Amino acid sequence: MNRLNLRLLAAALAVSTLPAAAQPKPSVKAPATAVAAVAQPFKDVGLWYGVFGGTICSWLDAGDGVFLIDTGSSAADAKALRAEIAKTTKNKPVKWIAMTHLHADSNDGLASFFPTDATIFVNARASAVLVEFVGRQKGPAPNVIGVADRIVLVAGKLRLEIGAPPANAHTSSDLYVFDAVTRTAFVGDLVTPERCPMLSDPDSDIKGWLVALDRLEGLKPVGLVPSRGNPAANATPEIGRTRHYLTSLLQFLIDKKKQNAPEARVSGELAAEKIGEYCPRELSAVNALSVYRRMAPDGTTLPGSALPPKTAPK
Ligand SMILES: [Zn+2]
Repeated sequence: MNRLNLRLLAAALAVSTLPAAAQPKPSVKAPATAVAAVAQPFKDVGLWYGVFGGTICSWLDAGDGVFLIDTGSSAADAKALRAEIAKTTKNKPVKWIAMTHLHADSNDGLASFFPTDATIFVNARASAVLVEFVGRQKGPAPNVIGVADRIVLVAGKLRLEIGAPPANAHTSSDLYVFDAVTRTAFVGDLVTPERCPMLSDPDSDIKGWLVALDRLEGLKPVGLVPSRGNPAANATPEIGRTRHYLTSLLQFLIDKKKQNAPEARVSGELAAEKIGEYCPRELSAVNALSVYRRMAPDGTTLPGSALPPKTAPK
């Protein structure tokens, strides 16, 4: 097991007891987990999460089928995930799959769930990509639902809100799932406790991300399960930390834009700023430059796909 896996496993172990504080009923105790990397945070509630490659996947038992959030980083991770779902739910079929975004570390495992007749939920902005992907797979095509704002899914024991932020945030395809029974928000990479929020995606957008955080706060979640970092028993401070980081970085970049500072000065001066307590300097530099070169003086950014192509060196 490499260092990364060990760290993730340690993270999963560390958090397996945390969500006890997020329980809807105070008398419920966080159960021991049979498998180290998989946790069932609420006794008597069919909700599990675990680390599968570079991401945390979660699943909920609706009664006669399973709602899955993210599919793992690779085919091997997806295989392990399917085995855990089968074990924990006594072989119930996966009937719904929600993708918090299309980054490979969170969802390269999707193909391993095919053939499937599950319904797949994705941000509407990514639905064309997903429909094309589904069309290339063998077997019957699953239903794809592109979520443009928010929908409510009531199925068996499940009461879920599935929502898409109104603008680009971590990516152009972010999606969250909110479980109203346990008040747990599954947020993908929109909030990554103890890990740096990443803006390296060419379509990332700080202002849009801040609006996405408003949406998450509006749900009044108690527990929070990210793709990376530790699940948190208290969602609000974690959302606040991400907001603080993004707001500070945005203000810094707007100031530099007003000064018409060259990129080299931006990364140099960034090192002296105290922008976020959990972002290593190198990652903040990656974030800053990814945004700065696409940013207008008012802090809005063009998505990378909308930028004119760079002229090739002669
Ligand atoms: Zn991501």
